[in-house]
Amino acid sequence: MADPLNPEHGCRICGAPLGEPVVDLGMSPLSDVFPSPELAAAERSYPLQVHLCPSCGLAQLHHIADPAELFTEYAYFSSFSTSWVEHARRYADEMVDQLELGPDSLVVELASNDGYLLQHFRDLGIAVLGVEPAANVAEVAEARGIPTLVRFFGREVAEELVAGDRQADLVVANNVLAQVPDLHDFVGGIVRLLAPDGLLTIEFPGALRLLEQTQFDTIYHEHFSYFSLGTVAELLRRHGLAVVDVEELVTHGGSLRVHARHAARGDVPAARVAAVLAAERAGGAFDRATWLSFADRVAAMRREMVEFLETARREGRTVAGYGAPGKATTFLNYCGIGPDLLPYTVDRNPYKQGRVMPGTHNPIHPVEHIAETRPDYIWILPWNLRDEIGAQLAYAREWGAMFIVAIPALALFY
Ligand code: ZN
Repeated sequence: MADPLNPEHGCRICGAPLGEPVVDLGMSPLSDVFPSPELAAAERSYPLQVHLCPSCGLAQLHHIADPAELFTEYAYFSSFSTSWVEHARRYADEMVDQLELGPDSLVVELASNDGYLLQHFRDLGIAVLGVEPAANVAEVAEARGIPTLVRFFGREVAEELVAGDRQADLVVANNVLAQVPDLHDFVGGIVRLLAPDGLLTIEFPGALRLLEQTQFDTIYHEHFSYFSLGTVAELLRRHGLAVVDVEELVTHGGSLRVHARHAARGDVPAARVAAVLAAERAGGAFDRATWLSFADRVAAMRREMVEFLETARREGRTVAGYGAPGKATTFLNYCGIGPDLLPYTVDRNPYKQGRVMPGTHNPIHPVEHIAETRPDYIWILPWNLRDEIGAQLAYAREWGAMFIVAIPALALFY
């Protein structure tokens, strides 16, 4: 078995040698570790470079840190996003209907965060289990009555559950696959855990959308792999699982939800599986040239954003950030946007307030700071939530503030 933490051992799915990077975002600190102002000087940065496997087409990072360092204290609480919680509720309703889940069913979510998704199944009387390595968010889940194993999921956890006579009718893996260093151990565990007629659903931001919309800030150290339907299908195939359907979602800037079952069942995949695969090939998701041209657009985006902020400063207009998501760490560090160009950002998550952005050290304040300081521009850093945040900040229109998003292209709006 190749060492999943060492890129010298090749592609994380197929083992092929990776060669030179296709995207180089320079040095960046860990995106979701928010230092206090006193500790900011001691933080470390690491090269942020994407490699494209010439064989299976998986885009992936060099590893720089141990997952135990990355994910044991996690600052992202899913429940702080209201649109995210609503997305989860609709998904639970659909799955309960489609799979006819009942009191004897078991739903297992891998990387269950603070239990925001499983709570909906629990409310419908279905047995649930979360697996979540970050102890601080797992505690929140337990407190709301969601049984949660504080572990990294893989074959070992799956064997223990099966030995305890537990197999899952539904396994949910949302926005976690990118963060898994050893994909074969993870998917090997899923195959073991999934009941013979069980369903696996996996959500992830698709690589094609990342390329088309220049979503370079979704590249950060905590995301080891950038999947497409094609690469996920290849990974699952190696473990005896088959893709049976795929949905294109609007969440997180355009995600895919892949449905898979044991290949031995012989399910006929929905027609849209072939359609999405064809679109990925036609869009160049597996081609080096597409990734190199993406890198050129990213460099142009940096020049444009820095110029905009420098002009605003020169003309005496004030700018504030809204949100402190992991993607903002990549954006700000790649562009070198410190407190001189973006004096502060705000976040609803109390965990982040009073801390600073990793690397660039822009202070993070409570949301009320915006009303107190009345900035001319409010830069919405989590662009995937622009409508939700724009509505929350309706009061800023009173003093004529304009909103900014930088992705997929710099745009200003009221
Ligand atoms: Zn590969």
